[in-house]
Amino acid sequence: MPRAQGSAVPLADAGGARRAQLIEMTIDSLAEVGYVESTLTRIGRRAGVSAGLIAHYFQDKDGLLEATFRSLVARLGVRMRARLRQAHTPRGRVQAIIDANLAAEEFDRRTGTAWLAFWGQVPHVERLRRVQRVYQRRMLSNLRHGLRSLLDAEEADSLAAMIAAMIDGVWLRAALSNWTEADSESARALLATFVDFRLKPQNAPVLAPAWSLARQRVADGVVISINPATGKELARLPVAGPAEVDAAVARAVEAQRAWAARTGAERGRILRRAADLLRTHNERLAVLETRDTGKPIQETRVVDVASGADCFEYYAGLAAGIAGEYLDLGREAFGYTRREPLGVVAGIGAWNYPLQIACWKSAPALACGNAMIFKPAELTPLTAVELQALLHEAGLPEGLFQVVQGYSDTGRLLTRHAQIRKVSLTGEVGTGKAVMADAAATLKTVTLELGGKSPLIIFDDADLENAVSGAMLGNFYSAGEVCSNGTRVFVQRALLPHFLERLQQRVQVMRIGDPMRADTQVGSLISAEHLDKVMGYIARGRAEGARLLIGGVRVVDGDLANGNFVAPTVFTECHDDMAIVREEIFGPVMTVLVFDDEQEVIERANATQFGLAAGVFTRELTRAHRVIARLEAGTCWINQYNVTPIELPFGGVKLSGLGRENGRAAIDHYTQLKSVYVAMGDVASPY
Ligand code: NDP
Repeated sequence: MPRAQGSAVPLADAGGARRAQLIEMTIDSLAEVGYVESTLTRIGRRAGVSAGLIAHYFQDKDGLLEATFRSLVARLGVRMRARLRQAHTPRGRVQAIIDANLAAEEFDRRTGTAWLAFWGQVPHVERLRRVQRVYQRRMLSNLRHGLRSLLDAEEADSLAAMIAAMIDGVWLRAALSNWTEADSESARALLATFVDFRLKPQNAPVLAPAWSLARQRVADGVVISINPATGKELARLPVAGPAEVDAAVARAVEAQRAWAARTGAERGRILRRAADLLRTHNERLAVLETRDTGKPIQETRVVDVASGADCFEYYAGLAAGIAGEYLDLGREAFGYTRREPLGVVAGIGAWNYPLQIACWKSAPALACGNAMIFKPAELTPLTAVELQALLHEAGLPEGLFQVVQGYSDTGRLLTRHAQIRKVSLTGEVGTGKAVMADAAATLKTVTLELGGKSPLIIFDDADLENAVSGAMLGNFYSAGEVCSNGTRVFVQRALLPHFLERLQQRVQVMRIGDPMRADTQVGSLISAEHLDKVMGYIARGRAEGARLLIGGVRVVDGDLANGNFVAPTVFTECHDDMAIVREEIFGPVMTVLVFDDEQEVIERANATQFGLAAGVFTRELTRAHRVIARLEAGTCWINQYNVTPIELPFGGVKLSGLGRENGRAAIDHYTQLKSVYVAMGDVASPY
């Protein structure tokens, strides 16, 4: 083979490298200026070569674009084959195809925009149409192949066509929404839920999918609260549209001025009364919360309302002490800062701890002199309304805490409202990104309490009983619907057999049942849709080769078939790259991973995009602090898990959020500083 003078690179390889470089430049150009503007001259300029050289390799623009399109399709094919090789079951193979097509790389703005440019040209350019046909045929035949061992041929072909259409549709919607509507993770979860739903055995109890119900609710202009444990309707509340939100903001603006003019001590007195009233009504509120969320009454009686009351009590005490500082600027001047309220702020809540979230947001906001408009999650609208009534009973003037009901559209009205100065959201990462993007238009500040996949590290010197308790609390409390759950349980090798044995013994006697019974320890998941998601992840765990130690089933004994109950589930023999280990499931699903040494476990614990919480169980004092210092998480526990006293700030790092709730730290997020310079002498003027 001829070699270039003075070069060790074979000519053919050099040509291949040049072709690859030009293809990359074409992707860049498509992402930046689109199909029409991506001319040979422009791409050549970008690559530092002449248009003639590009023509030498690809003939013309169509040739270059076809090669680029082929290259995108080929890369996808390589990734898909790699994933298919790792899948060991028919369901796993279907998931591999979904995961490859909706991988993070395909949601990357650069690659995604290039794909979009091609899809737009396919109807007009025969050469691209050929590539497109190859892509479609390959996806369909892979899907059919996976499904034909699960269904008869006709059903398999029909489901394969649906999945292919959904993959393209979900991706396209995300692309057209400029990547705000869905990310890779949520798109894959959606598809997994859909496939599992379709593959569910005929004799499995059928529940109306929550999304169809949600549509109906939107159409009716109401939020319908449903008891997830029984499927029975609890209440209907009107959705707040633009007019209602504007009116609420106007009332809040008016009320906030007078509220901010009061002293902190006066505000604190009202908040203190609210804390007392919450405690007085503990039982009634706990029952309502259990009905609305499906959580066991034994939890809501001691945590949900009590945590809200503690929060009001804490900020009632701090209110009088909220202050700026004095600064000595020498003999001629001094300075001081005033810590002032922001004005009207919005709170948007998730469905897992509705009352607690409403309290955690409103108590510091009100203590600082703000007014708050709060939107609970559509699935759990009830207890925030009760909080509003109790606050009025405590003496809070009208307009300072108002609840608006609705779906994400109502949330968006708040995040985009020009007179709302801040949004505090508890929700998913995708929602956090959308809220932050919307808030940018009016430069609101945001506090974001988002999702997690937190590590719980158990060293082999740990107290076994405490470590097992911590892992159970950090995975199964509230049926696992807790953002800070330690769902990646890393156990040091020598302790693993003892840990698993004890865990299994204790999990198998947990009581699943009617949430209203005082002895029930595991209640219902929030909705049929969420149940499908959680069961989908359990199926994926099996398909990925994790070993099911216990649980893994939906519980449908007697009346429980009307609800969304899942047995506490433990997977062992998990690997860091499994979906059940990487993605937030938000259900009672623990994954156990084994580790050997400290350095290794820290690196693996940090290898996630989330950073909400972390826990360490060990008897070695110095190791506990050394490890905690290196973990990338906002909230950590040593020899304990998921305890959240109001005094301690709570929040996440990385994709788990921004800002902090609770503690003195929250005061910073609900106030702004005004700096004042005070001259004590004459103005020295050169004029
Ligand atoms: P979502 O993100 O789906 O919803 C949260 C709230 O945001 C809901 O009120 C929702 O309204 C609203 N919303 C949705 N989209 C928008 C939008 N574009 N603009 C404004 N508001 C919007 O979360 P979930 O309710 O499903 O809660 C589960 C998630 O919350 C999990 O990821 C969990 O980890 C996280 N979480 C985090 C906590 C933390 O402190 N870090 C604590 C608890 C939960 P609607 O419901 O009507 O759609």
